[in-house]
Parts: sequence; structure tokens; C-alpha cells
Amino acid sequence: MKNTALILGASGQDGAYLAKHLLQNGYRVLGAVRRSASPRAARLQYLGIERDVELFECELLEPTNVIKLVEKTRPREIYNFAAQSFVAASFEQPLFTLDVNTLGAVRILEAIRAVDPAIRFYQASTSEMFGSGDDGAQTETTPFRPRSPYGVSKLAAHAMAVNYRESYGMFCVSGILFNHESPLRGREFVTRRVTLGLAEVKHGRRDCLALGNLDAQRDWGFAGDYVEGMWRMLQQERAGDYVLATGTATRVRDFVALAAGALGFKIAWEGTGRDERGIDRNTGRAVIRVDPALFRPAEVHALRGSPAKAAAELGWAHRVEVPELAAMMAAEDDRRVRDGLQDF
Ligand code: NDP
Ligand code: GDP
Repeated sequence: MKNTALILGASGQDGAYLAKHLLQNGYRVLGAVRRSASPRAARLQYLGIERDVELFECELLEPTNVIKLVEKTRPREIYNFAAQSFVAASFEQPLFTLDVNTLGAVRILEAIRAVDPAIRFYQASTSEMFGSGDDGAQTETTPFRPRSPYGVSKLAAHAMAVNYRESYGMFCVSGILFNHESPLRGREFVTRRVTLGLAEVKHGRRDCLALGNLDAQRDWGFAGDYVEGMWRMLQQERAGDYVLATGTATRVRDFVALAAGALGFKIAWEGTGRDERGIDRNTGRAVIRVDPALFRPAEVHALRGSPAKAAAELGWAHRVEVPELAAMMAAEDDRRVRDGLQDF
């Protein structure tokens, strides 16, 4: 009989890539999505798998939705991706963020405990739990000092997953993932803002793209690589916590230059602070400016992870480096803007 996996948050970036990975590995894939007025299967459609994933409605704020779904579907594995996943929004919506991200995870854990404690559970934890680190790469044992309601919400969910593992012997895995991107990334995240915004400038849909902190550094990988690591975590003999990262940090301004290069711009930076501009040397026009409204109340300046444990225990390694990632995302947004496609 086929293994069955249930993905909560199947309409998002990771949900789509993981669904594809599981289908390729012979799984029956069930996707939970919340009620929505807009299309929910756009990312699944992009990967050509919308007919292969069985969709169920599940609102994580409703405890009965979660328990009924687990009871009805009885999967072998549950992946919890459902979240208010945008750090900046969490400063404006802290209560909602904690409800979905923390209590949502606990609702799933309780449903598993009640229905079948043998179900394997993956919790989507995050490098945002660390806050800004020192110079070294962050590992599974680095202390957590979250700097946003999002980071706090995910840290509490992480701690609950560890607690259910230790208290009830449940197979709860926490994947501490550094930023991972793709052409399916939400438009509010900086990599996608850059590739989509610059593609719009290229095609004359806007003059200039405003960004926030150009000096922030992130350890960016490709989502398609990371879902394989998540799946491997759930195939281990014992549950544990694993960092997935590339080990390399890149500044926002350097990602901008890579994406811009892929779209035919040549960026030269002029000015400092709020007056800094990214000038396209081909035309002399400013295509990037700084908007202080995009600065955060508390910033995580730099994140860089060590994937050593995942490499040793899961045999996992990333394949796509940042220049290739930026070029891939830029090419897709170039095509979408040119063809007027607006699915996500
Ligand atoms: P997305 O924002 O693309 O996906 C989040 C998913 O959660 C969407 O399907 C969304 O549905 C769903 N969701 C939100 N609120 C609810 C709710 N109340 N009830 C049910 N479903 C809900 O995130 P990613 O795919 O990028 O990330 C997956 C997970 O991994 C998230 O939990 C994220 O916080 C975490 N993570 C992501 C990292 C990254 O770099 N991408 C890094 C580390 C952790 P809808 O489409 O309707 O909004
Ligand atoms: P995060 O790491 O989950 O917060 O992912 P984001 O992609 O939202 O942000 C990554 C970093 O880019 C953060 O340090 C942001 O402050 C920085 N950044 C700079 N300009 C922007 C912008 O215009 N939008 C977003 N989302 N982030 C920006």
C-alpha cells in the first residue's frame, strides 16, 4: 500500500515542492488548504501536479477542523507548513501570528496524540528563532533569541514539538530551515520582490523598486533542495532537530546585483543610507531606492547556518547556489511579466 502524507499549507511554496517530491516517491499526497476566495492550487498547477494532490479544507484556527481531518485521512506523515510566514507582518499582527503559528502547531500535535500517536510529524521551524548570530554559523545547539513575533511564535511551536517527542514518545521532527526561495516564493519576501520588481522595471511596468535594509544577510537556498531534506528527516529511525542551510550568507544588495545582471541591468550603488540608489549603468536611471518604511522594528542582520548534522545524518546537501537561484527566479519573473501572468 502507498504511504500517505498530509501537508498542511499545501497552497504555499514548500507545500508545492514537497508534494511533488512525495509524488515522485510514490506517496498518496493529501493537501490541506484554508477556505479562500482566490485560487489555491496555482503553485501546484505551476509544477503540473494539481490533479495528483487530493485537497481538503482545513482552517488551523478551528481545532475541530484539524482533528477531523487527521481522523478522516489517517496519514503516515504530517508536514506542518501552515503559518503566517512573513516576519514584517508579524509585527503588525502578533496575536494572529501566534494563534496560527504556535497554537496551530499544538492543535495538530493534540490531534495526532488523540487519533494516532504513531503518525510522524514535521514542524516547519526557522532560522528566525536564532535572531542575529555571532560570526559563526548557527547549529542545532545555538541559543535562540528571536527578534520578531514570528520568531517567537515559531520558537514556541518548536519547543512544543520537542515536548511532545519527549513526553509522549511521538515522532516529532523540527526542521530549522534557513531562508529558501524559488520562483514560487511569496511576493512579499525580499528575493521575490527583487526579481519581480526588476522584471517590472525592465518591461516598463514601473520606474523603480523600493527596498528596505540592503545590508541584511541571509543564507539563501533553493526550496526544491530543502523539501528533500525535510522528507529525509521523517525517514530516520529516531526523531530529532536538523538545520538545513547552505553555509553561505549573501547581502540583500548582492542578491539585487545578481538578479539585476540576469535581467540585463548593471547596478552601481550611489549615495549612502536612506539616500542610496541602485543606478543602471546602461541607462543612468535609478532602478533601486531605499524606503525606510520597509525597515523593521527589530532587524535580524545576519543569518548563516551549518548543515553539518543534516549532511552527516541525512546525507543531505544543497545543490543550487545563490547566483543560479537569482537567475532562475529572475528568468521566471521576466517571463511572467512579459506574458502578463499574475498567479502568485
Ligand atoms: P508560505 O507562506 O508560502 O505558505 C504558508 C501556508 O500556510 C500557505 O499555504 C497558507 O495558506 C497556509 N496558512 C496560513 N494561515 C493558515 C491558516 N490559518 N489555516 C490553514 N492554513 C494556513 O510559506 P513557505 O511555503 O515559504 O514556508 C513553509 C513553512 O516553513 C512556513 O511555516 C514558514 O513559516 C516556514 N519556513 C519557511 C522558510 C522559507 O524560507 N520559506 C524558512 C523557515 C521556515 P494561504 O495560501 O491560504 O495563505
Ligand atoms: P525573513 O528572513 O524571513 O525576514 O525574509 P525576508 O525575505 O522577508 O527578509 C530578508 C531580509 O531582507 C530581512 O533582513 C529584511 O529586512 C531584508 N529586506 C530588505 N528590503 C526588503 C524588502 O523590501 N522586503 C523584505 N521582505 N525584506 C527586505
